[in-house]
Amino acid sequence: MALVLTEEQELLKQSASEFLNDKSPVTHLREMRDTEDAVGFSRALWREMAELGWPGIIFSEEYGGAEMGYAELGILLEESGRRLSPYPLLSTVVLGGGALMEGGSEEQRAKVLPGVCRGETLLALAFQESGRFDPYFTECTASASGSGYSISGDKIFVLDGHVADQLIVVARTAGEVNDRDGLTLFLVASDFEGVSISRTVMVDSRNAANISFRNLQVEAAQVLGKVDAGADILDVVFDRAAAVLCAEMLGISCEVFERTIEHLKTRQQFGVPIGSFQGLKHRAAEMFCEIELSKSVVLDALRAIDEGRPDVSRVVSAAKARVSDTVGLVTREGIQMHGGIGMTDEEEVGLFLKRAKAAELMFGDASFHRNRFASLLGF
Ligand SMILES: Cc1cc2nc3c(=O)[nH]c(=O)nc-3n(C[C@H](O)[C@H](O)[C@H](O)COP(=O)(O)OP(=O)(O)OC[C@H]3O[C@@H](n4cnc5c(N)ncnc54)[C@H](O)[C@@H]3O)c2cc1C
Repeated sequence: MALVLTEEQELLKQSASEFLNDKSPVTHLREMRDTEDAVGFSRALWREMAELGWPGIIFSEEYGGAEMGYAELGILLEESGRRLSPYPLLSTVVLGGGALMEGGSEEQRAKVLPGVCRGETLLALAFQESGRFDPYFTECTASASGSGYSISGDKIFVLDGHVADQLIVVARTAGEVNDRDGLTLFLVASDFEGVSISRTVMVDSRNAANISFRNLQVEAAQVLGKVDAGADILDVVFDRAAAVLCAEMLGISCEVFERTIEHLKTRQQFGVPIGSFQGLKHRAAEMFCEIELSKSVVLDALRAIDEGRPDVSRVVSAAKARVSDTVGLVTREGIQMHGGIGMTDEEEVGLFLKRAKAAELMFGDASFHRNRFASLLGF
């Protein structure tokens, strides 16, 4: 299998690159950060992205989607990563939309997905309760109440949770805190009584929220998928989210590498470009090799999803472990090789390091995925 983009994918990459260069370069994120924008991105620009078909890229035409695949979505995320573009592709499309596609009833999908594809409806998946990614750690409970359930619990790091119109809430309907069985997903409008949302400020200046549920009353019709079997949906969605996030991390790695090489070629010390020193050339060569390997594993993981291959989890773990290491190496080296200016806020390389750090930890860091890779192979 050739691990290169098809002609159509190259065109998509080109158009996404031009659009984001024009509308959402790194200065756009900086502006949102410095003005403490309440949303954290421009809704008008998200609508423009919807006109290009981005939020609907993986959804079928019956919902207004473009019916492409995760390989194509990965291209959008890679280009977003290069510009630290803070748009809700991960939260609304992959996590929220992905959970709906995987577990939602026809009625639930038809109600929510067309708005997502039009760029009007934003979604968030409220699952995380501890500082580290721990997919089944759920203390939040949904207990039987009347004809439905009553949900109580607290969620943290809910991506784009501060602006989501609909939340998909993971709650425990049975079992113990860390059990895989006994989780149930609920589709809940974020303005329901019993939901309180507070925005958090993340190190990467991206958008997330802490969300509390206090005796939130939901109907049985709001259950997404089967009661107690929510993990069947989550496992699939988290794999896809990790793969797509890898594409973003790859974009960050490529961008920081290119900027650093440019700096090495232009920054003069002792009368020569600092890149002429062997000590820096070797370090640059190591980054290059790591990035090339990362490109292959990310594309393989995204294609495994599109092809419905049985080894999706394994290749996703291989990719997340490899790319987490790569983006960490490249952004640290990027700062170091930029010398003193790399430490400053004015120089953009540090902003990439912050996003890389957050992305490394999201959906499992390199250790988590090495461990999972080994378990999946029976080690
Ligand atoms: C927070 C902070 C506090 C500081 N405080 C002080 C201070 O108190 N006193 C002071 O004198 N300086 C201070 N500095 C400056 C610091 O010493 C320089 O940033 C550092 O020496 C790198 O120099 P540069 O920024 O000019 O980078 P450059 O000279 O542009 O070098 C960029 C990169 O190339 C590497 N490099 C350069 N030449 C070679 C080579 N021949 N072989 C291998 N690698 C090479 C450098 O190590 C660096 O990683 C401070 C910097 C910071 C960020």
